[in-house]
Amino acid sequence: MKKILIAGGAGFIGSRLANKLIFLGYKVIILDNLSTGKKENVTGAAKFYLADIRDEKSVEKIFKKERPEIVINQAAKVYWSEKEKNQLLDISVSLMGTINLLNSCVKHGAKKFIFASTISVYGRRPDKKRVKETEIIACDNIPLAIFSYASAKNAAEQYIYYFNKKFKLDYAILRYGHVYGPGQTGQRDVISIFMENFLKNKPLLVAGGGGQFRDYVYIEDVVEATISAVKKKNNGIFNIGGGQAVTVNNLINIFSKIFKKNIKIKNIKSVERPDGRLMDISKAKRELKWSPRFSMEAGLRKIVLDYFNKKQSKIK
Ligand code: NAD
Repeated sequence: MKKILIAGGAGFIGSRLANKLIFLGYKVIILDNLSTGKKENVTGAAKFYLADIRDEKSVEKIFKKERPEIVINQAAKVYWSEKEKNQLLDISVSLMGTINLLNSCVKHGAKKFIFASTISVYGRRPDKKRVKETEIIACDNIPLAIFSYASAKNAAEQYIYYFNKKFKLDYAILRYGHVYGPGQTGQRDVISIFMENFLKNKPLLVAGGGGQFRDYVYIEDVVEATISAVKKKNNGIFNIGGGQAVTVNNLINIFSKIFKKNIKIKNIKSVERPDGRLMDISKAKRELKWSPRFSMEAGLRKIVLDYFNKKQSKIK
């Protein structure tokens, strides 16, 4: 069976992907510096290397020994707080780290490179237009901020394309939407905050009327899309989203339904107008033969169930 190396395989998405690939019979090698990932996320069935994708020597040594056929790069610093943002870190991990992996792929005969990119490369779009893969608009024309994190990812995408043209290294660039699901820890995103407030009967603070929307995609759907990219020959960029614009108000309604209660809402003023991003996923449907299976309600129910299961096992 094929040998697959997952950089960032101890993280939220990478570890789920590793488990599923092992279940399908692939040999999985994980390379992770455990900056946000956790060793306990890594199954004993995978071979683990504690290493940094920026460290040329370590990466080279691992590739020389393991000679993976497919390399999936999930390693990046994902920001959950404005204060943490760091341009040099973005460039060094997402761009230089990716180039390091690409060089080792070419040197040691890997056939395909799969990259975890992001919906953030599209900037913020106030309309609910579904953006296609070809619709990255010129930098000076993006309606709202584009982030350093996204710029570094976008630059890495360009290099992946360059390596394909120059060295014939096959590739799939997967622009994930907002990935959510059980086991996503360490961040204070709207889903975890709302859920905590519902559990504690604390009022919800809603800015700007709650019309802001996101393209959420459930973790299991992201894993399936990535596995489709492993199996299919198609080179290219693919939007991997849930396909629906889910507003803050939609989230509140779904949580009210799941918890069977309403909670007090405090509206607060926001300087930003309602905005969001939504992707057109028809290319992934067509070429990867993939479609998201989880509705927002089904995904949130899974998170709530996981919370109560974990609570119960702690009591035992
Ligand atoms: P995560 O933080 O859980 O996983 C990232 C993993 O990469 C961690 O295990 C971390 O230790 C590792 N890592 C970071 N820097 C490294 C380095 N220099 N060398 C080796 N390992 C390193 O994040 P996640 O949510 O699982 O995201 C995985 C990928 O998907 C990231 O590339 C992210 O940009 C992308 N993505 C995530 C989302 C999302 O909503 N979670 C959305 C779009 C794209």
